[in-house]
Amino acid sequence: MNNKFFAEKVIRWYQYQHRDLAWRHTRDPYYIWLSEVILQQTRIAQGLPYYERFVKTYPTVFDLASAPEQDVIRLWQGLGYYSRARNLHQTAKYIAQELNGKFPETYAQLLKLKGIGPYTAAAIASFAYDEAVAVVDGNVYRVLARVFGIETDIGSTQGQKQFAQLANELIPHDQPATYNQAIMEFGAVHCTPVSPDCLLCPLQAECQANAKGRVNKLPVKLKKTKVRERFFNYFVIIQNDSVAMRQRTDRDVWQQLYDFHLIETKEIISSLDELPGLLTLMPILSKTIVTAPARIYTHILSHQRIQAQFWVLQIPHGEVVELPEKMTFLTHEEIENVPKPVLITSYWKEQFF
Ligand code: SF4
Repeated sequence: MNNKFFAEKVIRWYQYQHRDLAWRHTRDPYYIWLSEVILQQTRIAQGLPYYERFVKTYPTVFDLASAPEQDVIRLWQGLGYYSRARNLHQTAKYIAQELNGKFPETYAQLLKLKGIGPYTAAAIASFAYDEAVAVVDGNVYRVLARVFGIETDIGSTQGQKQFAQLANELIPHDQPATYNQAIMEFGAVHCTPVSPDCLLCPLQAECQANAKGRVNKLPVKLKKTKVRERFFNYFVIIQNDSVAMRQRTDRDVWQQLYDFHLIETKEIISSLDELPGLLTLMPILSKTIVTAPARIYTHILSHQRIQAQFWVLQIPHGEVVELPEKMTFLTHEEIENVPKPVLITSYWKEQFF
């Protein structure tokens, strides 16, 4: 089949139907990079204010590079996937210091940068430099699988190769940027996961999924993400107006963010007697007034479901206690300013405001 129809129809649809988004008005690789990293795994409505804040706070790659990491993570707070913020910062430093602020101009060179994978490299290379390299994100998988009736699992290596190859065959070399924007937008707005508008679709005549009644079955994704259940017991140690916190440094969720003293258990516990690390807390428990958790907070991450409860340990004024390792007292104002996981922020706002 001659596939020329595809790019033509998708681009024509895009010209009339696309949303006006801030990053579509720039060819500056720095802004394109920011928008793409922020929008990965994030809805546009949620990502847009973050993009605007980043552009305002760090208008150039040099501004981002010279910012303290903690400030970058604080600005990122709430978006999740904090390794993206750390990679963003490290790559900004590399570009500012090693490349004099100049972004690499090809897909292959962009791919060598930390935190820039095939999708982001293709987006920057095509949007900023008009290189004919196709972006393949979730929207693209869905549109291609449906229009071309592809039944290969999009999570398999074979599927990824097949889709990338087709996407790169379809991209018109005279307008790669518009085409890439168009196919992603078409997937996001028209050929949506649930209830795509097949009736008014410009590709209806060619769409194989529509012809075969396979629209709701495509794309095929066999492997479901396994979700790990975790149970967090936080100890909010308070003395006067200060609360003990620590910066998370282990290889785990929320690296570099601040939280309270944590003991993880295999299940929800209803009394401190069930706590495996209770002995280590004895010196402090003996000098504090303990308030049991009011409720359980549930926090969902992409691969984890965390149920957390917070035990408040109030140390009387003038009492001297040794805090658990790495914990340090912070004032309310300091706590406001340090980056924190959304779970901690929710608890903090609910309990202290
Ligand atoms: S006909 Fe339906 S499934 Fe096919 S491309 Fe159009 S909206 Fe998507």
